[in-house]
Amino acid sequence: MSADTLLKFMLGAGQVRGLVVQLNDSWQTMCARRRHADPVQLLLGEMAAASALLAGSLKFDGTLVLQLQGDGPLRLAVAECQPDFGLRATAKAEAAAAEAVGLAPLANAHGGGRCVITLDPRRPGQQAYQGVVALDDAQGQALPDLSAVLGQYLRDSEQIPSWLLLAADARRASGLLVQRMPGEGGQARDADADEADEAFSRAVHLASTLGRDELLQRSPEDLLHKLFWQEQPRVFDPLRPRFHCTCSTQRVANMLRALGRDEVESVLKERGEVEVTCEFCGAAYTFDLVDAARLFRADIDQPPAPRDAQ
Ligand SMILES: [Zn+2]
Repeated sequence: MSADTLLKFMLGAGQVRGLVVQLNDSWQTMCARRRHADPVQLLLGEMAAASALLAGSLKFDGTLVLQLQGDGPLRLAVAECQPDFGLRATAKAEAAAAEAVGLAPLANAHGGGRCVITLDPRRPGQQAYQGVVALDDAQGQALPDLSAVLGQYLRDSEQIPSWLLLAADARRASGLLVQRMPGEGGQARDADADEADEAFSRAVHLASTLGRDELLQRSPEDLLHKLFWQEQPRVFDPLRPRFHCTCSTQRVANMLRALGRDEVESVLKERGEVEVTCEFCGAAYTFDLVDAARLFRADIDQPPAPRDAQ
């Protein structure tokens, strides 16, 4: 099996840039940790691949969160890409999601589905950014898949002419993104702009020959060579996406503190312990009476966090 790979590349004289991603181990780990109905699982695979493509295409130091807020059997699907390309994903869906075929029946059954892209900066004090788009086209027709939704988002909201294709199966999640490099904003750049437009349409024409099966089966290196060898692709050093969940005892403890002592004590009274399961990775965090007492004592005294023995 090939490693998880994210490749950035440029074509021709540099007017077109792109990224190709293939998730193997990271995707299989996500599938093993949390199992959803097939249509939801495959959509999550596409979202995980897309989050890595989007994060790789932006100059931004933080976590990219891609969300689908559905109004069909899929209520919510989330994929996150951290600054080091650590990935995680999760979804909330009703049982009927198992029967849904395609994005619209799954997440846009009544035309109210939304795609939300959030850039959450790593350093405090920096402004978070959020973009929201409908799952319909400009004519109000439901878009067929996530590739179409994100293509429209990049063209309309980010003002970057873009083409992308996403695919997932039980073993892999893959994606290809091709973008026209933004101009330098000067006037009198008509000739250059025409040339860049031409380079971009040539790249899209070549990329459009790609089917989802091939996107899943070929390695990223092989795919770039096969599609773009005439355009002399310049390929940068591979990045290595991986599965990584950011949950921790500390974060769960903070969540329980936010919930409040009364709430936590009432669960303790009923069940003898509080168990919190991470929606992303399935890790279970258990707090018994002693842990819970420490939780709220820490809240008052602020002692140093207890350190676990090796
Ligand atoms: Zn987790």
